[in-house]
Amino acid sequence: MDPVPDIDHVESSHSGDGLTDHLPRLHLIDEEKKFSDELSIFISQKWGLKDAGFNYNLAAVFGSQSTGKSTLLNRLFRTDFDVMSENVRKQTTKGIWISKGQDMKVLIMDVEGTDGRERGEDQDFERKSALFSVATSEVLIVNMWEHQVGLYNGANMGLLKTVFEVNLQLFGSHRGKEKTLLFFVIRDHVGSTPLANLSNTLRADLDRIWHGLSKPEGLEDCKITDYFDFMFTTLPHKLLQPEKFETDVEKLRHRFTDPTDPHFVFQPQYSKRVPADGLHIYASGIWDQIMANKDLDLPTQQELLAQFRCDEIANSVFAAFRESIKGFRQPIESGGIVEDLGSKMKEIRGLALKTFDKDASRYHAEVYKRKRAEMLTKANTMLEAYYLGQLKNLHKKAVSQFSTTLQQQLKLDGAEFSKVAIKAKEDAIAFFTKGAKQIQLEETDWGFEEETVQLEQDLQELATVQREKELGKMVVALEKQMKKELEEPITLALDRPGPGMWGRVVTAYQQAVQKGEAMLEKRARTFDLTEQELEEQRENLKRQGWVLTTMKIQEETVDGLMVYKLLNRFEEKFQRDESGLPRVWKPDDDIDTPFRKARDETVSLVPLYSKINPLDPSTDELLSVESTDDFDFDQSLHIISESRQQELVTQLRRKADASYVEAKRSVVATQAK
Ligand code: GDP
Ligand code: MG
Repeated sequence: MDPVPDIDHVESSHSGDGLTDHLPRLHLIDEEKKFSDELSIFISQKWGLKDAGFNYNLAAVFGSQSTGKSTLLNRLFRTDFDVMSENVRKQTTKGIWISKGQDMKVLIMDVEGTDGRERGEDQDFERKSALFSVATSEVLIVNMWEHQVGLYNGANMGLLKTVFEVNLQLFGSHRGKEKTLLFFVIRDHVGSTPLANLSNTLRADLDRIWHGLSKPEGLEDCKITDYFDFMFTTLPHKLLQPEKFETDVEKLRHRFTDPTDPHFVFQPQYSKRVPADGLHIYASGIWDQIMANKDLDLPTQQELLAQFRCDEIANSVFAAFRESIKGFRQPIESGGIVEDLGSKMKEIRGLALKTFDKDASRYHAEVYKRKRAEMLTKANTMLEAYYLGQLKNLHKKAVSQFSTTLQQQLKLDGAEFSKVAIKAKEDAIAFFTKGAKQIQLEETDWGFEEETVQLEQDLQELATVQREKELGKMVVALEKQMKKELEEPITLALDRPGPGMWGRVVTAYQQAVQKGEAMLEKRARTFDLTEQELEEQRENLKRQGWVLTTMKIQEETVDGLMVYKLLNRFEEKFQRDESGLPRVWKPDDDIDTPFRKARDETVSLVPLYSKINPLDPSTDELLSVESTDDFDFDQSLHIISESRQQELVTQLRRKADASYVEAKRSVVATQAK
């Protein structure tokens, strides 16, 4: 052998290429077979693959100890895996190391200590790491010495048997769908045996191994090519042909970095469909299963991964979502209407779904779809509180708007209640519907039909109450008019006692009612009164008219006024002559006869005033007004009670007597002169 160059020197010259700034590597599975909990941090922070999605590749290298695996990887990927020093000859750390290639989205796993047979130790770890690598990697680089080719019973073949077995276990049912590339790198190629021969020998050995495997049920006839593609290459001796070694490795590097290279290794069919942001979950989940010696079922692992990651993604999306919508709470709870609530909710929900889709859509389709639906439901539920709150506030505002409009419009001259009410109601409903439509989101089961019906009812109730009020006002106005109408004619009629007195009162009453009815009919139209309502109002008008009439009569016949009226009447008869001039009594005059006549005539007026005679002079029929619980027509005819009549008569007589005495005295006084 030529003088062996100092390995450290070689490695440092490699570092001297300006590649000293290696990306950090991670001891993914350590000597204790413990899976690192730092993979996620390495992927996202140290290797910058957080948003890579499917846009990255994963390869692993296998082979006997000290076959230059790490040396090769460091050249191919510019990584920093441990290389066993030629001088120290100490074994590198066992386990699986992972690093990212420089300036390429490739993760590479350096599997150390897979060669348990050779070292006569941990075959268990060999199987476990094979299983793990096959489950996760797209490309398996199998590194071997040229002189190992054809050693069918050699350590490498044992390793490959293990790889095939675990592959069948994992992908048996995925026959022909998902493949793994086995890339054989034959080291220290002397050159006397061409690559074609070497690869033929290897392929033949692999087929033999394949045939010797016991296949799962139903897969007895499956072929090795259903699951694997093969690639073979050679490298010269690193120490004997250092320059050719470096140039060949550089060529080989192209197969891993240049997608346009016809031998590019990372073909889409090798992808294990694990997004970069989920790799740590997937890989650790698989390692857990392997460690627990459970059957590794990749579809289940994919689903578990999808569930876990979709939940994680949804949670982070929801944190932002909650933050975005929390501003709606205060204004809506305090009764306000949030402008553009609909478009804002739509935007926020859309953004949440978009963010979710971006990361989650890469995962197991069914799980993703289910989680997306769950997320939509949850988002809708959270938004629905605001939707309902705003609906309630729109409802309230519509009601108050309706009341305000109604009040204002009714104040205007010529306002017709039913028209005003219908318009105000239409406006309020339109306002509500417009606002409700604006906040109605698609893909929800929200609706505002019930709320609309409720609003219509509320407005109808308000309208009814308002109508009653307005009707009441109208009745008051009618009564006021009738009262005015009645006043003068009744006063006049009662000042002229005699046979036609009550007839004139009745006539005055009828005229007032007639005028009232005309007005009622006119106003009734604006309220859309029904025939029955109109009839009730008419009855009411007649009764109220009559009540007003009797009240006016009562007013005119209170004690003092009655005595005054009757006394006037008496004085008229007694103190004035036929031509209406004041009498001056002479000694010979008969005072007694005119006194008696005037007094008796006046006294006889008391019963006339005491009871209304409701005879209609125009028809000679008796007037009648229907009685109610608190109005009795017959009762209303009685104006002055028996006892009051007695008293009036007594008072009248006394005053008349005084007049008589006065008259007598005036005669005596004249004689005495
Ligand atoms: P690993 O255990 O397979 O990862 O091997 P290492 O990369 O640590 O290398 C083990 C030893 O083999 C080191 O001393 C290397 O210098 C040496 N070595 C690396 N590549 C080659 C090669 O292509 N041929 C030979 N003969 N030795 C090599
Ligand atoms: Mg190594």
